[in-house]
Amino acid sequence: MSAVPPTTSSRSTRSTVFGRVLIVDDNPELVGALKGVLESVTNQGAPRYEVHTASCGKDALRLADEEGFDVAIVDVKLPDVSGVDLIVPLRASPRPREVVLITGYASVDAAIGALRSGAFAFVSKSFRPEELISTVDQALTKVHLTRGREVLERRYRSVVELTDVLVVALDADQHVQLFNRKAANLAGVDPDDALGRDFLASWIPAEERPRMREAILQAETSDRTREVEADFVEGSPEQPLARRRVRWHLSRAQEEQGPPIVYMIGIDVTERRALEKRAADAEALSAMGALALNLAHEIRNPLNAAVLQLHLLDRQIGRIDVDEATRSQLQGRTKIVGDEIGRLNRLLTEFLELARPRGIAKEPVHVGKLVDDVLDLERDSARMRGVTLVRDVAEDGCVAIGDQEKLKQVVINLVVNALEAMKDGGTLTARVKGDDTHVTVELEDTGPGIAAEIFPSLFDPFFTTKEAGTGLGLSIVRKIVDSHAGDVAIESERGRGTKVRVRIPSGR
Ligand code: ADP
Repeated sequence: MSAVPPTTSSRSTRSTVFGRVLIVDDNPELVGALKGVLESVTNQGAPRYEVHTASCGKDALRLADEEGFDVAIVDVKLPDVSGVDLIVPLRASPRPREVVLITGYASVDAAIGALRSGAFAFVSKSFRPEELISTVDQALTKVHLTRGREVLERRYRSVVELTDVLVVALDADQHVQLFNRKAANLAGVDPDDALGRDFLASWIPAEERPRMREAILQAETSDRTREVEADFVEGSPEQPLARRRVRWHLSRAQEEQGPPIVYMIGIDVTERRALEKRAADAEALSAMGALALNLAHEIRNPLNAAVLQLHLLDRQIGRIDVDEATRSQLQGRTKIVGDEIGRLNRLLTEFLELARPRGIAKEPVHVGKLVDDVLDLERDSARMRGVTLVRDVAEDGCVAIGDQEKLKQVVINLVVNALEAMKDGGTLTARVKGDDTHVTVELEDTGPGIAAEIFPSLFDPFFTTKEAGTGLGLSIVRKIVDSHAGDVAIESERGRGTKVRVRIPSGR
């Protein structure tokens, strides 16, 4: 026996090894003897090996295909093919398999050649039975270990791939070694395309890179987990298509060789942060509302007094002894003051209407008709701007439950925004459709779109990019939609236009 010693030891697992062995040899006596030796090995009375035999390469491949095997014992010299050439096709299976070559004419060169082709061992035909069994056992142990490792790897991979958190691993140069599906989805790349890329330069905005780099370096040099929160962009940090807010937990794993790898587990906190911001905004708004209410009352009292005094003044002018031309000139002046006070009063009333916390009506609202009314209202303004209005309203018009006037305000604000965005003309498409639970209004314009970096601020009160804007339009939209338990979403692409979708419960 001159078996090339395999590296894996089989001693500890020997009693548990069970396997299917395929013997490929055209010498019936040798096959019979081998089969006898292998089948005589038992484990608590049961045979440890199930043995199949083939007398040529063709039969061996067919059997391997039909029955499968764990370890093949293959003669180098077969009638139709060399055993060495069978190694690769026999092992070509998703399930790990091993091949032990046997030959009557062993040479060191042949043994090296066989091992290079992937054989597990190279055994001379003058083996002793227990030596063959030991080699087959070792090959089987390797097969079982490899399969076990593959199962673990598959499980680990599924956990990493299916989890709803981002999993990224970085090497010492902060280049990506692992990028799971969730991370790839948010980054808008194929997971394989992310490998090897510079993580910070590819997905972290420039202003957040120093903080993030610092956290990675700290994680790399200590055993403590670091936490850091930063934006994570789709596209490139210079021209982001979208951004998410991600909270990262960083820790290092010492690899067997080389510098440590930093693992980063990221949780997408975009929605959570947006909700926190909305709660803070709502608080600020309601504080401002209370302040504004007080101020409005304070202004209204002297205004009323002024109206009363003006009325008395007007009556006195009617009675004083002056020529008619002077009288009508004086009365003209009091009228101007009266009109201005009236305008101030109206402004105050509208402002109070907005600031005062008030419940909403809960009545059936024909949303299709409401949208038609708003389009009619804005038709002249659209024409002046060269904007074509397209109406796509579902047949039944769709009925939501809510406050007619407030919902109209929502549609007006959105239509006005769309028209104002299309300075050089375009098309505004208004869609209304309903499903089992909601009525959806969609307003899509062909304007310039909205830059990703201002997206998070759109609904902030007083956020505006317009010279004469108040920045209240969208916050009013959100306030009204929230009070209807609906939702509003904006999609926009630079250069393509903007689509705003409002959903209101239909109360069905
Ligand atoms: P205002 O219209 O007074 O600016 P809004 O709250 O209605 O206040 O809008 C805030 C900002 O959102 C606008 O200044 C504009 O930059 C952006 N915006 C809103 N709607 C659109 C749209 N359809 N197209 C492009 N930008 C929009």
